[in-house]
Parts: sequence; C-alpha cells; structure tokens
Amino acid sequence: MNIDKKAPVMLTGATGYVGGQVAKRLLEAGLTVHAPIRNPENKKKTQHLDAIADKSPGSIHYFKADLLESNSYNSAMQGCELVIHCASPFALTVKDAYRDLIDPAVKGTENVMRSVQQTEFVKRVVLTSSCAAIYGDAKDLEQRQNGIMTEEHWNETSTAKTNPYSYSKTMAEKKAWEMTEDADRFDLVVINPSLVLGPGIGYAPMSESSKTLAQFGDGSMKMGAADLEIGMVDVRDVAEAHFQAAFTPVAKGRHICSAADMTFLKIGEYLRPKFGAHYPLPKKNLPKWLVWLTGPLVGIPRQFVSKNVGYPWKADNSKIKNELGITFRPLQKGIEEHFEQLVENGAFTK
Ligand code: NAP
Repeated sequence: MNIDKKAPVMLTGATGYVGGQVAKRLLEAGLTVHAPIRNPENKKKTQHLDAIADKSPGSIHYFKADLLESNSYNSAMQGCELVIHCASPFALTVKDAYRDLIDPAVKGTENVMRSVQQTEFVKRVVLTSSCAAIYGDAKDLEQRQNGIMTEEHWNETSTAKTNPYSYSKTMAEKKAWEMTEDADRFDLVVINPSLVLGPGIGYAPMSESSKTLAQFGDGSMKMGAADLEIGMVDVRDVAEAHFQAAFTPVAKGRHICSAADMTFLKIGEYLRPKFGAHYPLPKKNLPKWLVWLTGPLVGIPRQFVSKNVGYPWKADNSKIKNELGITFRPLQKGIEEHFEQLVENGAFTK
C-alpha cells in the first residue's frame, strides 16, 4: 500500500511516552499529524509536542476523542490515508481490569477500526501492539521451538484475572485483525514492541516504562534484582519501526520490535558507571523464593514470579530488520538518558 506523505496522518496516543516519539518522527519528516487526545485543552500534555512541531517542517492539530466513545475518531480521521493507533493504557497494577485496561484497549481498537471502515480515505492502519500479545509468561516459551517466540505465536495463557495488561493487548490486536479480514481498501501492519526504554519527548512519569526504570534508583532493588529476563528496545527505534511500517509499501503482518534479550541485573550494570555512586542499583540477583515471598508487597503477584523469574526470554527480531530495515541501537545510552530524565525531573527526591 502506497501512502501519500502529503495527506495528514491520524495518530492516537500522541500524549503518551511511545506516541510522543512517534509524533516526533512524523513531524520531523514534515507530515501533518492529526492527534485525537482526551484533553486538548490540557497544555501540560501537549507542550512538548508543540515545541517539536514549532522546530519541525510538520504540523500537529488536536482533536477531542476518547477510546471509550464510539465515533470519537471520525473527525480526526478525515482526509487521512494513514492511521497509527498507539493509544492504550499500559499499567501492570490496576483496580478494575476491565475498566482500566481491557475495555479501553479492546473497545478503543474497535472504535478506531470502525471509523477506519467508514472513512474512505484510509489505506493503512499501523497498530501498536506488544510482545505481550505474543506470549503470556516466559515459561510459555518452553513450548515454542528452541524456546524462541516469533510472529506466528499468540499469547494463549493470559486472562483478565492473571495478567490483564497482556490480555488487553492480545484481545485488542485480535480485534484489529478481525476487523481487517474483509477489507480491500486498507491493510493492517502491527508493531509488537518488548519493554520500551529510552528518553521520552517530555517527562512521562506515569508511563510504566518510567516507573520500571525508576525502581533502579528509588531503593526498590537495593538488596538485589529479581532474576528476570525480558526483551527491550529503545523508544526511538520503536518510533522508527512505526514510521517504516507506515511507509514501506510491502510491509505486512506483525513485527516483533525488540533489540535484545536483557536482564534487570544488566540494566543495573548499564547504569552503574554514571549513576552507581548516588543510586542504590542492584548488584546481584535475589533468590527466587525471596522474590516469591516478598513480591506481593511491591505489587508483583506470586503467580508472575513463579512463571517468569529464572526463565529465559528469547525472541526472533529478524522480520523487522529484513522487512522494515530497522537497525536497533545499543540499549545502554538510551537507558542512561532515560534515567537522567528521571533524575532531572525529581523522580527520586522525596
Ligand atoms: P502511556 O505513556 O501511558 O501512553 C498511553 C496513551 O494512551 C496516552 O496517550 C493516553 O492518553 C492514551 N489513552 C489511555 N487511555 C485512553 C482513553 N480512554 N482514551 C484516549 N486515550 C487514552 O503508555 P506507553 O508506554 O506510551 O504505551 C503506548 C502504547 O505502546 C500502548 O499501546 C502500549 O500497549 C504499547 N506498548 C508499550 C510498551 C512499553 O514498554 N512502554 C511496550 C509494548 C507496547 P492520556 O495522555 O490522555 O492519558
């Protein structure tokens, strides 16, 4: 599918951590961005985007929209050949899984896709899904060939009760595929990032990525880290992946977007040269039994500990490199820059 770069692009979630970098990539390429957001009048949410737009050849226009309101995206989509649907709540602990995660993810995707079906201009939808839609727990990878996840796999183990965020992403991506099945005017290209780290366009304290990194400086890991292996990717590479997914005519299907398989201990090691003297970075892995015992006190369910701590995590990222030409940058610098952003914004001051 060829997308005309002169037509506006609709991007949901531009106020978020990942969406902000996607917006920046589009603006710097000179595109006109239609950004439907919940509170266009809240300047705190838009000032970083405006500052980038001011310095870029592109421009940004805000529309009021909510994932839970039907027809919310119709006006922002007018004239757009490309829709990038990035908005979805990312939270690992919630009070009400349906209200806080699953409904906005799944009904939100349904609303966006319904507008796509009704908007004659749209030729391509790029969806921000997640590796969470590909696997539930690291233990699941034991069932995959050589223990490696690929785009062929789906998360078949998460439920609304056990792992609501992963369940929300799985059901949302399935909904998007289901609503593309009979389409011939538009196609769907999906980006499935692993844990995203790296500097945001503005300080994003509420993003789960920032909250995860903040645990390396706030004392949560002073006794050690959980022996967790997980994929990671720099947020700027995730933005590039969205851009290439949008404008590579042959792009097709899902794309694992993960630079490397990492451990929490390794993140501590990456941060140590610059920050080790002032922050209580983890120096060793904690025994699994201790994480199992104390996990619930810091919001980590025992079930998660049982099926993830101590298990290897491996993903095949060859498709995104070959099809979209993505070259992943080394992770250390981006992790340092993200941590610096947390320090500068007072994340560790009481
Ligand atoms: P984030 O910073 O919390 O951003 C979430 C975005 O979704 C915000 O723009 C938020 O708008 C919007 N949103 C939430 N509920 C909404 C609603 N009811 N109506 C309209 N907009 C709503 O999270 P993020 O880390 O950037 O995540 C963005 C996307 O990347 C999500 O699809 C997430 O699943 C995916 N992802 C993230 C990671 C990661 O490690 N960060 C990894 C894989 C995939 P407000 O500003 O109004 O709250």
